[in-house]
Amino acid sequence: MVPMSTQLPAPTSQRPAAGSLTFSAPRRGKPPAHLADLDMAGRRDWLTTLGDQAFRADQVSRHYFERLVTDPARMTDLPAANRKDLVATLLPPLLTPVRTLATDDGATVKQVHRLHDGAMVESVLMRYPGRVTMCISSQAGCGMNCPFCATGQAGLTRNLSTAEIVEQVVAAARYLRHGDLAGGSEGSGDTQDALRVSNVVFMGMGEALANYKAAVGAIHRLVDPPPLGLGMSARGVTMSTVGLVPAIDRLAGEGIPVTLALSLHAPDDELRDELVPINTRWKVDEALDAARRYFDTTGRRVSIEYALIRDINDHAWRADLLGEKLNARGLGWVHVNPIPLNPTPGSKWTASRPGVEQQFVERLRAHGIPTTVRDTRGSEIDGACGQLAATV
Ligand code: SAH
Repeated sequence: MVPMSTQLPAPTSQRPAAGSLTFSAPRRGKPPAHLADLDMAGRRDWLTTLGDQAFRADQVSRHYFERLVTDPARMTDLPAANRKDLVATLLPPLLTPVRTLATDDGATVKQVHRLHDGAMVESVLMRYPGRVTMCISSQAGCGMNCPFCATGQAGLTRNLSTAEIVEQVVAAARYLRHGDLAGGSEGSGDTQDALRVSNVVFMGMGEALANYKAAVGAIHRLVDPPPLGLGMSARGVTMSTVGLVPAIDRLAGEGIPVTLALSLHAPDDELRDELVPINTRWKVDEALDAARRYFDTTGRRVSIEYALIRDINDHAWRADLLGEKLNARGLGWVHVNPIPLNPTPGSKWTASRPGVEQQFVERLRAHGIPTTVRDTRGSEIDGACGQLAATV
């Protein structure tokens, strides 16, 4: 059952009609401007506009991106007189924690945040031995309407700003630094590394490439070296998309070698038109061609995401067709991540039988395609792929 009226009294979006797509987000009050929205030149300009000295931008950036500090009392290099006001202007609180849910003995944590206008977003932190992966949201809701995804079924509420995206990672980094996330500690090597967000995947709520400018700004803040940003490795960042072809090409041209994940879910247009409605705009072959171009430009091996849905897309012939289509575009440029479908409210679909899943994987491997079933975490807390719907 779809939980009705359990959302906070935020304006909620309508459940979209089957197959409909929403590209432009409803206009709502803009979130407050934040230091993390801007590159360093923009931050310095902002300080100058405020009548302050430009180098204060570097100081506050250091507190925010290096020390993860937002408390003006701890920014003793700023003049005491206007420290509080300055920080209130540059680092307004954007996310209010609503609840934190943990599972896997604390190794998987879902954080639900309320934004300034009452819209809700979720992010998920997953601790593995030696690495921490964070799954973040780029929109409140999503306009891509995939029928097996809870977020898609809730419709698009609005785009997030760059800083609202970045803040999810900074909030998690702070959480880690305070040692709150258990699990994965044995044999994980360096504690410092184990306590850092090493990977960020744009696989939470939303289609990030439909919120292009904010998403690319966020990528910069993640990978740019401190004090410009958090200084993560670009290869640790994965952009996941339904296949917005022009945006994939544009991303390839940004010169930031993040990993691209293409949510394919079917190798044939007839089925993909239904499972991933964007396919009515850009067909399977066009999406795969764009993925291949992405590899050519960036040198980054592309991931093909494939949620295995019992008796819908898990047939051996579809594994063969997928293998053939990938090989037709060359060798060594791609790998496939089958994901057992996670249950979502109101959907009649369920995950493939284990034997069928195994066969699907083996067929792909027989075509020479590296294939690894995704370990899905967090389904007990509705925190797994496709389950983020931000109900309270
Ligand atoms: N809009 C982006 C990010 C969405 S979520 C995209 O579509 O790629 C990340 C992945 O989870 C996508 O591959 C998406 O198709 C998949 N997913 C969505 N619902 C799912 C479900 N119920 N079970 C398993 N995977 C799901």
